Amino acid sequence: MPQFRITITTCSRSVFMAVLWTLVSLPAFSADLAGSGEDVETSRVADGVYVFRWGVYRNMFVVTDEGVIATDPLNAQAAQLLMNEIRMITDQPVRYVVYSHQHWDHVAGGKIFKKAGAMFVSQENCLRHFKRRRNPDIVMPDIVFSDRYQLALGGKTVELQYFGPNHGDCLITMRLPDEKLLFIVDIVTPKRIAFRNMPDDSPPELIRTLREIEQLEFDAIIPGHGPDSMPPVSPGSAVREAREYLEALMAAVKSEWDKGNHDLARLQAGIKLPAYRNWQAYDDWLAMNVERIWAYYHMGW
Ligand SMILES: [Zn+2]
Repeated sequence: MPQFRITITTCSRSVFMAVLWTLVSLPAFSADLAGSGEDVETSRVADGVYVFRWGVYRNMFVVTDEGVIATDPLNAQAAQLLMNEIRMITDQPVRYVVYSHQHWDHVAGGKIFKKAGAMFVSQENCLRHFKRRRNPDIVMPDIVFSDRYQLALGGKTVELQYFGPNHGDCLITMRLPDEKLLFIVDIVTPKRIAFRNMPDDSPPELIRTLREIEQLEFDAIIPGHGPDSMPPVSPGSAVREAREYLEALMAAVKSEWDKGNHDLARLQAGIKLPAYRNWQAYDDWLAMNVERIWAYYHMGW
C-alpha cells in the first residue's frame, strides 16, 4: 500500500481524497475472525492508523514503535476482538485507551487493556459520571484533563479537545494533526439524521460545538458510527453537513412553534426536511428528532 503522507504532499486535495477513498476501501484485515461470525473489520487508513469496526460502532487505534494508542473499548466482547485485531498487526503493548465521552455503549469493556497495563484517558467530567453511576465494566480514567491534552507516542501525535457540553458533558474529539484526521463519536454520523430522540443532546450546544470543530484543521473524519457499507473515513465536510441538518431541524420546528403550532403530534406529522430525505434513518427517526426539538422550545432545555 502506498505511503499516505506522500499522497498528501503530491496531490491536489480532490485527488488526495479520491486516493484516500481507494485506500480505505481495502480493509487491511477483514475479519470474520476464523469463522466466529462477528461483524468485525479493521482498516488501515493512514500510516499506523487503523479503524476498527464492530457492527455499527467504530473506533480508531494508532500503532507506533513505542506502543499503541487505543480508543473507546465499547464493551468486553468488542474489546477482546479489538485486542485480537491489534495483535494481528503488532506485538507492541497498548499504552493508552482514550474515552470519547461517558456513554456506556462506547466506554465499557476496557479491563482487558487495563490488565495489560494501559493508562486510561478522558475529559474530567466523565470521571464524575463514572463515580456517580457505577458500572463495573468501566475502567476509571487514570489521566483526566479539562480542555486539551496531547498524547505523543512513538512519533505519533493525538490531540484531544473538549468543547463544553453538547452530547453529554465530557465528549472530546481526537485529532491526528499530521494525518489531518479527526475521530469524532456520536455527534457526526455522515449522511444520517440525528440518533432517535437525541438522547443527552443539547441541540444549541451541539450546533455551537460543530461550528467550533469546523475550525480545526482536518481533511477527513473517522466517525464513531456507520453501517458496514460506509467507508472507515468520510470527508471532513460531514461536520458542516451535520451542523446544517441540526440548524434546518431547529428552524423547521421553530417556524411552526412561532405560528402557535405547539401540538407535538401535528408537528411530527407535518415537518419534513426534503433536502435530507436520502439520509439514513430519515423515515424512521425524523419524528423523534422533531420531538427532541419540540421539547427544547417547550422547556428551554
Ligand atoms: Zn453517546
